[in-house]
Amino acid sequence: MSTIFSKIIAGELPCFKVYEDEHVLAFLDINPIQPGHTLVVPKIASKNALDADPEDLARLITVGQRLAKAIMEAVGCDGVNFLINNGEAAGQVVFHTHLHIIPRFNDDGVYEEPMPGEYESGEAESLAATIAESLT
Ligand code: AMP
Repeated sequence: MSTIFSKIIAGELPCFKVYEDEHVLAFLDINPIQPGHTLVVPKIASKNALDADPEDLARLITVGQRLAKAIMEAVGCDGVNFLINNGEAAGQVVFHTHLHIIPRFNDDGVYEEPMPGEYESGEAESLAATIAESLT
């Protein structure tokens, strides 16, 4: 399936490129959560992290690590979020795997703190076992 990111990779649409190699391309998000918000995408299309080539996923993180340091230096932020949205329910809008690198400043209020939950007695043990059994 062709997406806006496939077109950027093919050079059919413009982007503000910050990095490119044989396997990945990184460019500025067009609607940044903070200036310097960068997307890292594998050149081979996959829908999201759940069906991406594991080697491509590893590349997103290793390139992302280098980029995060450069972004921190360029924008002077205090930290960064690495974020991958997988599926519409998780906020994914563009269905081509991508890693967000989002600059963060102390007390920037970008994200509301989620309310932490609690497990009932025995629930965590049972759920951990169910997840472990589902591993393929
Ligand atoms: P997601 O919600 O994880 O699918 O994020 C998709 C991201 O792609 C959003 O943050 C958009 O702002 C960004 N985006 C969409 N179109 C473009 C584009 N042409 N160039 C750069 N970023 C884009």
